[in-house]
Order: sequence, then structure tokens, then C-alpha cells
Amino acid sequence: MAELSVRSVLVTGANRGIGLGLVQHFLRMPKPPQWIFAGCRDPKGQRAQELQNLASKHPNIIIIPLEVANPASIKAAAAKVGEHLGGSGLNLLINNAGILKVNTLDAETLEDMREIFTTNTIGPLLMGQAFLPLLKKAAQGSPGSGLSCSRAAIINLSSQGGSISSLLTWEIAQAPSYRCSKAALNMLSKCQSLAYKEHGILCVALHPGWVQTDMGRSLGLPPPVTLDDSVSPAHVSHGASHIPFRFLLLPSSSTSSSP
Ligand code: NDP
Repeated sequence: MAELSVRSVLVTGANRGIGLGLVQHFLRMPKPPQWIFAGCRDPKGQRAQELQNLASKHPNIIIIPLEVANPASIKAAAAKVGEHLGGSGLNLLINNAGILKVNTLDAETLEDMREIFTTNTIGPLLMGQAFLPLLKKAAQGSPGSGLSCSRAAIINLSSQGGSISSLLTWEIAQAPSYRCSKAALNMLSKCQSLAYKEHGILCVALHPGWVQTDMGRSLGLPPPVTLDDSVSPAHVSHGASHIPFRFLLLPSSSTSSSP
């Protein structure tokens, strides 16, 4: 299996949790990407401090203001990334930003359903649309014809919580809005994979494990997977080898339950 070798990557929600862990992982690679675009909705805020510190030491990290629930912000981010890349394309788009609200089915509301769908499902849809020209450019500029993360790919951070066949954490958290948003994200990933395959773009949905992040801890039990373990490379199928995650969601499922 070929090693992951990307010239450019964009991670949404890169200021904390798995997103920040991914940025750190890319920096540690033997051959780090030339461009690591770190999407962050409040780059000057307290929660972006660690990312800012990292970016001040690594000139290949470019912080991009990006609110994935706002189409105008997504368009502006695509334009900014395009400017930085000059004539070349974007190899890897990681739709990581996400939110979870631990409601019960009885207490679920229109507002929460809308907010969580907008961020977790519609955000990745609009991101895919806005960055398609740059992803296509990367695919066209890469040698070979196979699908791979080194060439051009969209990775959607899904969750086993969205799995219809293995609802392991129902007793801990019903969270219908989150589960529905991730189940829909899985279908979006399938649609993207079918539509973008002809452009040479690999599209997959991944479950990162139940990880020790703010979201992972919000279920009230200690998550079993460390951040480092989650973002370290895994040998997975479907041409997505060496992508920095231990768990592949589609079509198989993982062993640890999660948000
Ligand atoms: P965290 O809550 O720790 O971090 C979420 C990140 O997403 C933050 O950077 C946050 O930014 C950002 N974000 C949230 N909403 C938006 C938005 N509208 N626009 C831009 N950025 C946004 O979550 P994790 O790191 O744990 O989770 C990352 C992904 O992995 C999510 O998609 C989650 O569903 C998925 N996942 C996580 C699991 C876990 O156990 N942790 C398990 C299964 C899936 P800000 O700081 O501004 O809020």
C-alpha cells in the first residue's frame, strides 16, 4: 500500500478536538503537506489559541475563517484556499466540524434538529460543492487513474451513532438529532462517492472511535480512545489506505461505541 502523500489538506473545525489532532498528525508525517488549511470559525477566540500557537511555529499551517453552517463563509474560504494554492488543486478535504446535543427523543426540538443538520450534514454537502473545482484540479494534476487520498478525496467524519444496525449507546444518550444528522451524512457520502468518482475523487465516511475530546466526554462516561490513537494511520479498505484514522464506517462498523 502506498504511503499517504498530500500536498494540500483542509480540515474543518481544526481548532480543538479531532480537528486539531489531525493538524498535529499531518505536521508529524515524514513528509508533511506543503499546505495545511485549518478551518476555524473564530480564529481570534480563546478556543483557537492552541491552533494559533501551532500556526506561529509552522508556516505551512494557514488558518482559514470557516463557519460550516454559513454558505457565504464556505464560499469565502474556498476562494481564500484557491488563492493560496495558486494554480494547483486541493488533495484532501476533511469535513470534521460537528456538534452534538444529548437530547432525548421526547425533548428533541425543531431548532436543535435544524442546527445539528445544518452543521453536521448540510455543511459537508456545501463544502463538497464549494471545493469541488479545487479537488478536481488536484485529481487532474495527479498521475495515475485510481482513487486515493493522495490524489483527491473528501473524508466525512461520521459516527457509529448514525448507524442503523448498531445503536450501542442508546442507553447512554438518545441524541436523535445527532444520530439522524450522521445517518444522513453517511448517505451524503455515498452520493458524493457516486457523483465525484468520475472526477477521480475518493469520498468516504469515517467513524473516528469514541475519542477523548470535548464532544467525546460530553456523554458523561470516559471515552476509551485517545486523540493520538484516533488520528494515527490505519490500514483500511476502499482505496483509503493510510488515511489518519483507525476506524472506517462505510460499509463496515467499528468495535467501540461512540457519540
Ligand atoms: P469537539 O466538540 O471536540 O470539536 C468540534 C469542532 O468542530 C470544534 O473545532 C468546533 O469549533 C467545530 N465546529 C462546530 N460547529 C462548527 C461550525 N458550525 N463551523 C465550524 N466549526 C464548527 O468534537 P470532536 O473533535 O470530538 O469531533 C469531531 C468530529 O468527529 C465531529 O464531526 C464528531 O461528530 C465526530 N465524532 C466524534 C466522536 C468522539 O468520540 N469525539 C465520535 C464519533 C464521531 P468551536 O471550537 O468554534 O466550537
